[in-house]
Amino acid sequence: MKFSDLELKPEILKALGEMGYEDLTPIQEKTFSPILSGRDLLARAETGSGKTAACGIPLVQMINPSVNAIQALILVPTRELALQYVEEIDKISKRTDVAPFAIFGGFSMEIQKAKLRDRVHILVATPGRLIDFLSHTTSIDLSCVRTLVLDEADEMLKMGFIEDIDFILSCLIHEHQTLFFAATMPDEIDRLIRLYLKEPVRMELNKKQLAPPSLIHHFQYTGARGRLNALIEYLKRETISQAIIFCNSRHHGEKLMRELEGKFKSIGYIHGGLEQSRRTSIFERFRRKEITFMVATDIAGRGLDFSHVSHVINYDYPRGLESYTHRTGRTGRMGRSGIAMTFVTDQELRVLKSLLKMNRIDPVWHGNIPNLQAITKHNGKRDDRKYFKKLPRNVSRDESYLMGSMRSL
Ligand code: AMP
Repeated sequence: MKFSDLELKPEILKALGEMGYEDLTPIQEKTFSPILSGRDLLARAETGSGKTAACGIPLVQMINPSVNAIQALILVPTRELALQYVEEIDKISKRTDVAPFAIFGGFSMEIQKAKLRDRVHILVATPGRLIDFLSHTTSIDLSCVRTLVLDEADEMLKMGFIEDIDFILSCLIHEHQTLFFAATMPDEIDRLIRLYLKEPVRMELNKKQLAPPSLIHHFQYTGARGRLNALIEYLKRETISQAIIFCNSRHHGEKLMRELEGKFKSIGYIHGGLEQSRRTSIFERFRRKEITFMVATDIAGRGLDFSHVSHVINYDYPRGLESYTHRTGRTGRMGRSGIAMTFVTDQELRVLKSLLKMNRIDPVWHGNIPNLQAITKHNGKRDDRKYFKKLPRNVSRDESYLMGSMRSL
C-alpha cells in the first residue's frame, strides 16, 4: 500500500515523499487505521520494522496544532531512542505546525522547561526525566494527552523503569488511547496490559517478518587469543562502508579501541559512561559517515536506527539470543543488505548452536567450521577429537562460505 492511498494531510504526504517513503511497511499498514480510530494497540514489533513512523505518521495527522498542549506522549527507554523518535517525527511534521520535543536525562532541565512552557504537541520522554518534571515542576501538563505510546516496553522493564511506568500510566486518568510496542512480552508487561489497555487490537509480526530478510549471518571461529588478529584481518579485507563493532563491557571496548586506533582511521567509541553531549556528537559524526568503525557497548544496540551500516560485528559474543537480534538488527534494514559478523570462541559454541536453531540462521563460516553436532546440552566443550573440520587446502574462502552454509545442526 502507498502513502498516497491514505487520506493524509498534504503537508505530511509531501514530507514523506521528501523522506523517500512511498510504500507502507507491514507494521505501518496494520497499525495505521486502529491508531487513527482511537483504538488501544498492542504490537509485538522489532526495531527496523518502521515502527517509529507507524506511530509518528498517525500522531502528526491527529494533532490539532491550534491547541497549545501536549496531545501525545511517547515513552522510550533511552535518550538515543528519544532523539531518534523526535527526529523522525520532526521530519514527518516539518511542513505542519505540529511541534514535537524530547526530554531525557543528561541535559539541563531549565532549557527543557523553557521549551515545554512555549509549545509542545508531541512529547517524547524517558521515564526518569518525565517523573523528575512531574514531581518537581509544574511545566508538564498531561491533561490533554489523547495518545500515550510505550515503545520498547520490555526494554524499559529490563532497565528497572517498571515503577516509573506504572506511576505515569496511573497519572493519565482521563480518556486516552494507549499504544504499546514491545519485542517480547514478559509477565510484568502482561500485568500492565491487563491493567491499562482497553480491548487492544493485538498484532504480531511473525519471526520471518522480524528477521531483516537481507541480513547475512557470518561467523568466524577463533581461539580467545586469535580473535583480535582475526578482527583486524577481517576489517582490512572486507569492503565495509560502516560498521558497529560490539563489545560486552566498557573495559573490553577501551582495550579494543586502543588496539585498533593505530591501525585504522576514522574510528569512534561509544559507551554508556560518556557525557550526553559527547555521545550525541559521536552519533552525529557516525550518521554523517565521518566515522567508519564504531566500537560500541550494547547501549548503541538498542532501538537505534543505523540503517546505513553495512556491517555489525560481534567482537564479543552477545549475551543472550535477544542481544544477538538487537545488535544485528541495526543492519540489513528496509530491504538494504547487511552483514552480521560474529567471532566465536570455545565458550560460546553451545549458545551458538541454540542461536542458529532458534533464529533459523543459515551461517556463513569463515575459516574453520566447528562441528556443532559434537556439542551436547551439558557441555560447551568438544566431545570428540574431530571437533571442527579443517578446510581442505585447496578450498578458497568463497567456497568455504558455501561449505559453511551447508549447515548440519
Ligand atoms: P524503525 O523501525 O522505526 O527504526 O525504522 C527503520 C528504518 O526504516 C528507518 O531508517 C526509517 O527511516 C525507515 N522507514 C520507516 N518507514 C519507512 C517507509 N515506509 N519507507 C521507507 N523507509 C522507511
